[in-house]
Amino acid sequence: MNILFASSEVHPLIKTGGLADVSGSLPRALKGAKQEARLILPAYPAAISRAEKLRLESDIVLPGARTPVRLLHGWLPHSRVRVYLVDSPEHFDRPGGPYQDEDGKEWPDNAARFALFARAVSAIAMNRAGLNWQPDLVHCNDWQTGLVPALLSCKSQRPATLFTIHNLAYQGLFDWKTFKSLKLPVDWWSLDKLEFHEQVSFIKGGLVYADWISTVSPTYAGEICTKAFGCGLEGLLQHRRERLSGILNGVDYRVWNPGKDKLLAQSYTARTLERKHDNKVALQKAFGLPERAGFPLLGHVGRLVDQKGLDLVIKLIPQLIRRRLQLVVLGTGQPELETALTMAAKKYPEQIGVRIGYDEDLAHLLEAGSDIFLMPSRFEPCGLNQIYSLRYGTPPIVRNTGGLADTVTDASEANIAAGTANGFVFDDVTSASLLEAIDRALGCYTQPDVWTALQRTGMAADFSWLRSAAEYIALYERIIEAPFEHPDCRQQRLHKIPAELST
Ligand code: ADP
Repeated sequence: MNILFASSEVHPLIKTGGLADVSGSLPRALKGAKQEARLILPAYPAAISRAEKLRLESDIVLPGARTPVRLLHGWLPHSRVRVYLVDSPEHFDRPGGPYQDEDGKEWPDNAARFALFARAVSAIAMNRAGLNWQPDLVHCNDWQTGLVPALLSCKSQRPATLFTIHNLAYQGLFDWKTFKSLKLPVDWWSLDKLEFHEQVSFIKGGLVYADWISTVSPTYAGEICTKAFGCGLEGLLQHRRERLSGILNGVDYRVWNPGKDKLLAQSYTARTLERKHDNKVALQKAFGLPERAGFPLLGHVGRLVDQKGLDLVIKLIPQLIRRRLQLVVLGTGQPELETALTMAAKKYPEQIGVRIGYDEDLAHLLEAGSDIFLMPSRFEPCGLNQIYSLRYGTPPIVRNTGGLADTVTDASEANIAAGTANGFVFDDVTSASLLEAIDRALGCYTQPDVWTALQRTGMAADFSWLRSAAEYIALYERIIEAPFEHPDCRQQRLHKIPAELST
């Protein structure tokens, strides 16, 4: 199959979170499974400088762009995956991140930026970009690509579309004035189309019009159909339940493998677990913590946002420091969480270490050097860090939600006896429930046989892309065979209204 994979971030070209990891790995795995997967993303300066063998492919004239947009062609580093970069300097050539400026403020023209990106993706999808290539399916990811299925929906000879939700909490909402300025079909401003509480919702473009919707774990696929997790879109998702499924993300074990990880103080495997300790010492040093015999080191890395539940950990600090443990946190995000953690580290310099910032190298050392990984997320579409921690022999403590529930098996007596336990799972979004899990973990940590068994079970688990890619390929085939026809398009077809004249 020919697959066009559209994403707003792709590791190692540009990354803010898990979406980049998926976008960097899945097309590569598809290629490995003999599928022609090509990537497309905006030509941010970082992407231009990191893509290999970049050259100008064509100029595309797009509605909404003052000048033709340049389509650059290159390769994802160290791979056989082609990359197209949509080069519109007024939209993408600027310092800062893909969605925010250097001070963390959203770019004011994000709607225009990602509408233009979606139009470029649609042009390629319809073989109107001078490539002489048309995908059989466009795989769209998150709100930044949400307009693509909508733009394509009623076109004849269109490719199939899959829209993957990596996080439903980010929806791409913009006001009426902005919507008008995008010059999209005006009838999209209605509740059964793209309107959402008097705003235009880019993500609804994917949810209403895509042939199929997927998300990144089976449990999250069920959760988003409920009021508690649906972010107001649960009704629409229930309506499309027949065409909604969950495929667990894989992880890239070439990058995340403690046996070969050059970023560690010492590499180790399930058979040489004793060498893991050197990483703990290096991690304590990196965070300025003293060595404490018998104290397990709890670690967390991630975005410091409400979703990740670090406020539950912060509330527990007085109780935690009374226990024989140390805690390290690496992350950036909401100022109040950053401040609370920094203050805790100042107050308890022997037990708590905090690094505010984004540091990939330190994230590797943290996965390896911690004894226990903390991930108390309120919701978690898939989550990658707990999967990394399993592979690094660092049993995670997670909440029973989304991909965390699908990857971590609780160390209950029965699961320990069955040899399936690989971590600790708690149910309620409360500090008390988290503390109970921490105490269970501390108890297991003092039993070396039980602990080693937990570590080895986690390290042996296989969450590679091979498995996920096979599931995506089966889904792509199914979608291509049975496309979804939006009721509007049925109307147009029956009355032979050219798509240009209606939407
Ligand atoms: P999300 O996509 O919600 O941020 P995931 O667990 O799916 O969460 O993926 C997070 C990815 O981003 C992981 O690869 C993680 O290592 C990385 N990451 C997040 N914050 C940081 C940070 N402060 N420093 C280094 N890596 C980080």
